[in-house]
Amino acid sequence: MTCPTRLIENARHRFRHIAGILRGSDPKRRDEFVVLSAHLDHLGIGEPINGDRIYNGAMDNASGVAAILEVAARLHKSGVRLARSILFLAVTGEEKGELGSRYFAANPTVPGGSIVANVNTDMFLPLFPLKTLMVLGLDESDLGKDIQATAKELGLEVQADPEPQRNRFVRSDQYSFIRAGIPALAMKVGYRENTRESAIAATWTKERYHAPSDDLDQPVDLQAADKYVDTVLKLAVRIANRADKPMWYDSSFFKRFEKGK
Ligand SMILES: [Zn+2]
Repeated sequence: MTCPTRLIENARHRFRHIAGILRGSDPKRRDEFVVLSAHLDHLGIGEPINGDRIYNGAMDNASGVAAILEVAARLHKSGVRLARSILFLAVTGEEKGELGSRYFAANPTVPGGSIVANVNTDMFLPLFPLKTLMVLGLDESDLGKDIQATAKELGLEVQADPEPQRNRFVRSDQYSFIRAGIPALAMKVGYRENTRESAIAATWTKERYHAPSDDLDQPVDLQAADKYVDTVLKLAVRIANRADKPMWYDSSFFKRFEKGK
């Protein structure tokens, strides 16, 4: 057995989180944070496949980090003033079992209890046009209403996890925030079953997921990536400007992680 905390301590000189803040402007809400997260680690150097040992992780998860960097750049450039603050967070240690985000959720760089929501992006897979947004956590908290409203504005269909048996809501960094009691969502480019898109996604998982070929030579739908960035941006703005803090639904399994319950 390994101690996750010690692993992170040992790795600290090699692997770091990177965080940035866009300060909110409302005196009552500026000390509350909406965290936009993505993991920056991947698998490194491993067993060669077709003579290549470099596991690049372009989709998993350079794409997620690029998305939150682009949201930060667009928000900064627009000069928009939000009520709450946004914390852009690139975490390490996801591939080791979300160790980095667990460490951050237990030792946040902002005051405890000030994080009101997490929106995580991990491998959002812009492989074909973004028409359907797949949302993990859609029915767990009232963040679901925020993403429904955002999707409507952008003309996107919203889809809950079509494969709930894979437990994906608890299989990336959002779960670290969920366990700290913080309402969260995670999103990807969605698709319907038995379509051209589902075939492309299945081929990607088979051929490129956690393989050296998850690199810059693969086809990317840049318009889908652009639209995804726009979706995260508009969602973040909506959450940051909400009058009330996001809440777990009473019916949600995850409500039990709220502080003091
Ligand atoms: Zn991965």
